[in-house]
Amino acid sequence: MLFNTHTHLNSEQLFENRDLYIQNAIDRGVKYFTVVGYDLESSRLAVQIAHEYDFIYAAVGISPNDCKETTDEDLEAIEALAKDPKVVAVGEIGLDYYWDEASKEKQIDCFKKQLEIAKRLSLPVTIHARDAYEDTFDILSKSGVKGIMHCYSGSYEMALRFIKIGYYISLAGPVTFKNAKVPKRVAEGVDLNYLLVETDDPYLTPAPYRGKQNEPGNVYFVAQKIAELKGLSYEEVAKQTTENALEVFQLKK
Ligand SMILES: [Zn+2]
Repeated sequence: MLFNTHTHLNSEQLFENRDLYIQNAIDRGVKYFTVVGYDLESSRLAVQIAHEYDFIYAAVGISPNDCKETTDEDLEAIEALAKDPKVVAVGEIGLDYYWDEASKEKQIDCFKKQLEIAKRLSLPVTIHARDAYEDTFDILSKSGVKGIMHCYSGSYEMALRFIKIGYYISLAGPVTFKNAKVPKRVAEGVDLNYLLVETDDPYLTPAPYRGKQNEPGNVYFVAQKIAELKGLSYEEVAKQTTENALEVFQLKK
């Protein structure tokens, strides 16, 4: 069994045919999903999908690439959504200096305000960070909030620093890419007790389907690659990453 900790069944590409993609994922052994919002509308859809299926949960938040026009009312709406019992995290939130859609100041402001929401509601966070690991680390270490480094693409050394302040490292399709040395090093080096698996669909499709539209069932290939890199059985990786996800999302009975 697998826990896909980051899928966008709420995206334009996947939403309409979500029942099909969910069934495909179940056929690949996926038992639980977290559908992650990136703006207000997608956060609402994430909660909607989580109410359609027992085994699907939601994360709500405004991503650094979608925060350019974000108002305090939008953040209040996110906080109201985050109180839904199927919401297990605030996210995806963070910093993205690669796309640079909103100014640094605006990104940091939106990030910090959503960390406060997570703190008030005692929820973990799902972090999107790109070309901004130092600032992200700095803000997270001061916030005291814990959670997930989603689709982690930083160095192995940086991963250890995030783990130290209470973060799990979530790997996606790139770990299966032929030339992706850094995520492979992370998969090899990071203790299985701190790893999670995800797809971040509809993009970043893992090998052997790279180039096609991604869907949540492809998380199977991510877990498979981690097992291969670590020299462990697929079952062991599936079991432990699922345990880790249940732990971080506070779903353990
Ligand atoms: Zn995402």
